[in-house]
Formats: sequence, C-alpha cells, structure tokens
Amino acid sequence: AKEQGRGVYHIFSKGMEEALKERVQLEKDVRQAVVNGDILPYYQPLMHLQENRLVGFEVLARWRHPVRGDIGPNVFIPIVEKLGLIGDLTYDLMRRACKDAGDWPADLTIALNISPLHFTDPLLPIKLLAILSETGFPPHRLEIEVTESAFVTDFDAARTTLSALRDLGIKASLDDFGTGYSNLYSLRELHFDKIKIDRSFVQSMQKDKWSDKIVNSVIDLAKSLGVPVIAEGIEHFGEMDEIARRGGEFGQGYYFGKAMPAALAKAMANGRTAN
Ligand code: C2E
Ligand code: CA
Ligand code: CA
Ligand code: CA
Repeated sequence: AKEQGRGVYHIFSKGMEEALKERVQLEKDVRQAVVNGDILPYYQPLMHLQENRLVGFEVLARWRHPVRGDIGPNVFIPIVEKLGLIGDLTYDLMRRACKDAGDWPADLTIALNISPLHFTDPLLPIKLLAILSETGFPPHRLEIEVTESAFVTDFDAARTTLSALRDLGIKASLDDFGTGYSNLYSLRELHFDKIKIDRSFVQSMQKDKWSDKIVNSVIDLAKSLGVPVIAEGIEHFGEMDEIARRGGEFGQGYYFGKAMPAALAKAMANGRTAN
C-alpha cells in the first residue's frame, strides 16, 4: 500500500505540474488573444415575448483556441480579468459590436456585459461615449449588463457610474437576478432599467414549484416597480409561454437562438424571425 501510495503521489504531483504548465500557457494564450483581437463578439437574440419580436442582441464573447478549440467565457473572462485586460477586451468587443450592428435595423439594441471589476472604473462612461462617437452608434441603442458583485463593495461608485451612463442615454440591466448576495438591496439602491432573471430559475421552473413561484414573483415585483424583466435561459416553449402569460416582457434562450456570429445575427435582424 505504501508503494502504491508513493506511486499515486508521484503521478499526482506530476499531474499538478502539468496542470500548472497548462495554466501558464493558457494565460499566455489569453493575453495573445486579447492583444490580437481573436476574441469575437457573438450575438444572442433578445425577444419581446408578448409580441414574439426580436428587439436586440446580447453580446457574448467567443474564443476559438488554435489548438484546444472553443473555450467558453466562463473560463477565459476570469483570466482576462486577472491579467488586467478586461477593459481592453470590453472596449474591443464594444467597438466591433457597434460596427457590426451599425447597419442592422435601427430599433435593435445591443447589450454589452460589463465585468464587475471594471464597472466602477471612473473612466468607463467616458470610454463608452468615445466608442459611440467613433462608431456613430446611438447611445439609446446600447445597454449594459452587470451583476451585483460589481457594487457590493462600493455602492457609491456604482451609483456614480450608473448615473453617468444614464446621462449618456445608456440603459443598465441587473444581470443574474436572484443569485449572489443582496440583490433586492441592489435594486432598491440603484434603480436599474431592467432586471434579468437568472437562467437557473427559468430552467427549473417546470419541474420545481419553488423556482416557478420565484420567477413569477420576480415578474410581479418588476411590474410593481415599473421595470421590465428579461427571462434568461428559455429553452422550451413551455417556459416561454408561462413567462409571457404571466406578463414577462422579454426573453432570451436557446429556444430563440444561441449566440451567433455577426453575419447570422444580421440575417436574423433583417428577416426578423427566430429560428
Ligand atoms: P451571462 O451574462 O449570464 O450570459 C448568459 C449565458 O447564458 C451565456 O453563456 C449564454 O450562452 C447562456 N445561455 C443563454 N441562453 C441559454 C439557454 O437557453 N440555455 C443555456 N444552457 N444557456 C443559455 P456564455 O456565453 O457561456 O457566457 C457565460 C458568462 O460569461 C456570461 O453570463 C457572462 O457573465 C460572461 N461573459 C460572456 N461574454 C462576456 C463579455 O463580453 N464580457 C464579460 N465581462 N463577461 C462576459
Ligand atoms: Ca449578461
Ligand atoms: Ca445572466
Ligand atoms: Ca451569468
């Protein structure tokens, strides 16, 4: 058993060394990808549920690693943050998105995710404005999405950012509502323009009564505050139907379409059909 134990230890430590090397390499590759502009904006349709109409797209970052294939943003975004490059990536994605969407139908919005780490950067509003001017994209068509982890530490900074954005005509959604720390508090303190119901609730609402009640209550809460909701992660007709019947305005999910490259988003925007 002792022999075996040592063998296992050896393999284990070798595995750790390998993993560490891989990690270092991945960080290098992520840095390269950001610098080279290899991380691209994809576009997931946002639908008006009552009217079954496309209203815009959420920008989602996509990266195809030359060797390892597609790597998801849940993996590379934290690395980009750690490398201190999240501002660069965000502005790059925004610039591309504003260019891509420049000739799409004029009423469609673009929703950009802002990293919590970046949200309270005092330069953010000015930088967004600069990119809007540079690309000629109208501010009222740009929305940003942020999770509350951005401001649990600094509500004053968050308030300042939000009001600066509002002055520019940029709307802000509270992302992943229902998860995290104190999102009712965030809502009360910061008065978001939209609430995105986290997909974990939407996806279990058909099999779990509690999720179902929570989704319905968030819709009611939003209604009473006069704030529209977006239900994330709608994969089936049943979820869409229930949320729409309850009065939920907007929705997003594989039922309507996954994130797609600009050319496909443009075709969808012009055809105005969900597939
Ligand atoms: P998020 O902002 O909550 O984005 C929604 C995520 O849900 C996306 O995952 C989207 O592909 C996925 N999704 C949408 N509909 C469905 C559905 O019906 N079923 C399922 N199973 N999933 C669905 P994705 O693209 O992997 O992004 C994950 C997270 O990474 C995002 O969550 C966001 O927090 C972050 N992220 C993505 N792009 C960016 C970006 O450009 N900047 C920043 N800061 N974060 C980003
Ligand atoms: Ca989002
Ligand atoms: Ca979300
Ligand atoms: Ca999320």
